[in-house]
Amino acid sequence: KHLSDIISLSIKDLDILEKTINKGKDQSQIFDLLTRVNLTHSESEILNKFRNLLHYFFKYDCLTISMLDAKGKNATIKLVDGVKKNLPDRNEFNINGTINGLPYTKQSLINSSSIKYNLFRYSSSEIETKTANNFLGIPIIIDEKLWGAVMIESFSDHNFNENDEKLMVLIIRAMQASMFWHIEYQNMYENAIKDGLTGLLNHKTFVDRSREEIERARRFQHHLVFLMYDLDKFKRINDTLGHPYGDYVIKTVAKIIKDNVRSIDLVARYGGEEFAVVLVNTSTEAAMTVAERIVENIADYNFNMEEKQVSMTISAGLSEYPNDSDQLKDLIQFADESLYKTKDDGGNGVTVYHSIAK
Ligand code: GH3
Ligand code: MG
Ligand code: MG
Repeated sequence: KHLSDIISLSIKDLDILEKTINKGKDQSQIFDLLTRVNLTHSESEILNKFRNLLHYFFKYDCLTISMLDAKGKNATIKLVDGVKKNLPDRNEFNINGTINGLPYTKQSLINSSSIKYNLFRYSSSEIETKTANNFLGIPIIIDEKLWGAVMIESFSDHNFNENDEKLMVLIIRAMQASMFWHIEYQNMYENAIKDGLTGLLNHKTFVDRSREEIERARRFQHHLVFLMYDLDKFKRINDTLGHPYGDYVIKTVAKIIKDNVRSIDLVARYGGEEFAVVLVNTSTEAAMTVAERIVENIADYNFNMEEKQVSMTISAGLSEYPNDSDQLKDLIQFADESLYKTKDDGGNGVTVYHSIAK
């Protein structure tokens, strides 16, 4: 669907383009770009491709692509091409009272000059220049929302004509379509790999990524630690306080686990109230500190929603690659067996597999 949308859009635009510029080479430039944009690329790679296109079609001294922030007051510069002068601190500018802010405030294409708009380019701390600044700017609208803007400026008396305006509209339309599908792709990707309630990796992704980590550990001769967690007597929460309260507990526990490990470690919601963790390049000894800290933090946490307070405990089991096994299936099973040993001992603790293995 995405491909057909992009292609039909570009075919439609190519018809208009033909009447506008009449250069076969130029048309294929846009068409090539649209077919080459890979939605799995990063946002900056996609923007770079459009920079190339804008650079090909326009004579500008400076190109700025910016994105509106959440509050709708400032914009962040995503890309600058050409003469890099007066760039603002933290790459941010106010959309009110600046040339680069005009496409946002006008919410339409603007082709004008600093003679008409006596404004700073990005911020009032700029040193004023005597030369005229001709500019052509346009908002980027994605999914009916103002997303950002493209601005090309000329620091000479070269001004932009009606053909430039038409061409700009066409290119931005292609950019909007690409960015829309890129954002859709990102959302679909996130939904496919993550658990909706907690934002942790889902079961399948955990298995796939763990396999990759084992491969990597094999290559670099690292250790890996597998931890399985299961909340103690969780069912009573749903039974006494209701399902939404249960969800709140699961979400909070997910966050506590996540906050206690590094960003390179894997954290997954393995099942309903079960969590799985892989600590990368870690020995059992170092992992015990982390595993126990998580157990303690959960036991100490004051769960509180709608003025109903409850305390929870969690049980954990630990297995290690390569000492316990080099097979994913075994490592998960051994961590699980250790977890059930913790439960047998009354919960709220961590059991290490090699301490119970026969
Ligand atoms: P144990 O100490 O032996 O682990 O007892 P338990 O009650 O925690 O164990 P059990 O695995 O039998 O219960 C898990 C419960 O978790 C059953 C299920 O209704 C609940 N559950 C699973 N997923 C969710 C969820 O997404 N939200 C809520 N609120 N509850 C869930
Ligand atoms: Mg449980
Ligand atoms: Mg369970």
